[in-house]
Amino acid sequence: MTQGKVFPSKALLQLPLFQDDGSTEQYSTKQQIERSYARATLVARAYEFTLDDVLQMNGKLWDLHADPISSIDAATTTILTIHYNLALGTLGPILATRPDLAPLIQKLLKFEIIGQFMLTEVEHGLDARQIETTATLLPDGSLELNTPHPGAAKYMPPVTTISGIPTIGVVFSRLIVDGKFHGIRPVVVSLTDGKGMCKGVSSRMVPPRSGSKPLDHSMTSFDHVRLPPGSVIGSLEESTDVRGDFLKSIWRISTGGLALSLGTVSFLSVGVYIAGKYSLRRTVSGPEKGSKMPIIGFRTQQLPILHGLAQVHVLQAFSKFAIPLFRDRNLHMYVRHGISTIFKATALQHCQSTLLALEERCGAQGLFNYNQIVRGHADMRGVCIAEGDILAISIRLISELLQGKYCLPEPKYPDCLLYKHEQGLWKEARDRYSKLSGTHRSEEFNNAILPLCRPLAEFIGHRMAYEAAVDQGVDPALVELYEAGVIKLDSSWYVENGLLSRAEQFDLESVAANKVLPDLERFLDLLDVAEYATAPILSGKSWNEFVVSLPQFLGISEPLEELRGDSPKPTSMSETVYKKILFWR
Ligand SMILES: Cc1cc2nc3c(=O)[nH]c(=O)nc-3n(C[C@H](O)[C@H](O)[C@H](O)COP(=O)(O)OP(=O)(O)OC[C@H]3O[C@@H](n4cnc5c(N)ncnc54)[C@H](O)[C@@H]3O)c2cc1C
Repeated sequence: MTQGKVFPSKALLQLPLFQDDGSTEQYSTKQQIERSYARATLVARAYEFTLDDVLQMNGKLWDLHADPISSIDAATTTILTIHYNLALGTLGPILATRPDLAPLIQKLLKFEIIGQFMLTEVEHGLDARQIETTATLLPDGSLELNTPHPGAAKYMPPVTTISGIPTIGVVFSRLIVDGKFHGIRPVVVSLTDGKGMCKGVSSRMVPPRSGSKPLDHSMTSFDHVRLPPGSVIGSLEESTDVRGDFLKSIWRISTGGLALSLGTVSFLSVGVYIAGKYSLRRTVSGPEKGSKMPIIGFRTQQLPILHGLAQVHVLQAFSKFAIPLFRDRNLHMYVRHGISTIFKATALQHCQSTLLALEERCGAQGLFNYNQIVRGHADMRGVCIAEGDILAISIRLISELLQGKYCLPEPKYPDCLLYKHEQGLWKEARDRYSKLSGTHRSEEFNNAILPLCRPLAEFIGHRMAYEAAVDQGVDPALVELYEAGVIKLDSSWYVENGLLSRAEQFDLESVAANKVLPDLERFLDLLDVAEYATAPILSGKSWNEFVVSLPQFLGISEPLEELRGDSPKPTSMSETVYKKILFWR
């Protein structure tokens, strides 16, 4: 992955809690969630965050999100990203004006208290500015926090007592002063003391997400909860710019969008490593009579693995370009947000399509969570939505760029094919936009521009990623293969514009793949994720150990009398058994 980089989680991998041989898939949902919180506690300790690390968004924050521990337990990363980036990142800046909060912040930094970030409501997701939870200022300076109806319950930060750790929430609400709406503000609220829910707070845990590591995601409501004076993070004054103030207060979501997308490099690395190693050891009959060949011999097996390898290296370079830009406070907030959007759209596009391809190429084994790839795909599905739904943030970015509100950094290599492609798509979008008479909220804009936005964000990202890889000296064969791979994503454009025929595109990929293939095993080992790859299919030894860990159904009964050869007495299902099934629930 990041060759030579030792993530703080590495020292934990020897502990029994982190040994995952696949058999832990049999644990109950609650047991798995408890393990994730226990793991999160140890990972948090290993990182030893300071408030400066969180607020300055320095290396530690990005390392936490890039840490391949997420490919063993993504729920751990979810817990920690909500806690450190969203909750502490929002609460931390007020320490300067609220020194009384220092003990709370110290405990949050040590993960002795967990922080939740509670913005979304059941009925308000992407239009979170319409949330309905209220925080009403009372005459004595205290506040009353209330959920007016079930549709305004907070969705879906994990708020139960399963962790056993006291928990507070940074709860976004409509601030009401003297009956007047003063804007949306986060307020700090006690949620659980680790044993029970705090008075007036209730939650309902939703069933586990499909395929991914389970977590106690919940719907949380507040019933006229009294909060002490000073619970509001920010001013009590009426907002003069409600939208602007709201966007500033949720700024850490943008950080999370970029940070969580770094996980794509880990998930891709682990996925490529598992599929690559398995394809090298899994054999089928070879062309010679009685011979065997490893499935990696098939071109259809090689291509997704090699493309994944190229994407890992290129995305890694792209992240090194994107993070400093995102942290640059001299750039306008919208530009920094734009960089986060482009990285997220691109990284998740590659991650999701490649993991799906790798999973398929492992046959039936690819379908099982214990082999990690399919689970990684499901875990990253959540990242596509959380901290900025890719479609929605792409629409916002491209619409604002089209309207000329700001610009992203200039491209560097105007002769590069990916740049020409991007320019071609921009021209298409601008031509369409110039013909519209309505605003960006019009039906015309909706029909003509919205469908272009996500692909355009991804194609800008391909060009930026390519430039970063060239600048950072990524192996040219891998860069060539990356380029050939993304050209295939809009093959017809290159044909239409006379740049590359379909045959030329095929050859481009083939030549690049042939350059990388001889070094495949070396490249797989260089990913440096062997300790994070727990899939039993990786070796004969790990497979055998996995098999003996599974529940066994051992034969002790006699064969059915219908198959014994003597004439059986006619029998039918007993009425009692039938009735039992009929009323089963
Ligand atoms: C793993 C995970 C963890 C989460 N953790 C938290 C948390 O800790 N705290 C928290 O507050 N929230 C959390 N969320 C919720 C998350 O913030 C929301 O899911 C997200 O904002 C999207 O809202 P929604 O799911 O309600 O989608 P909706 O708003 O219902 O949107 C659904 C779909 O409608 C379409 N759509 C909606 N608006 C537009 C638009 N303007 N333009 C075009 N299409 C549109 C899109 O296709 C979109 O995908 C989490 C979500 C996930 C997946």
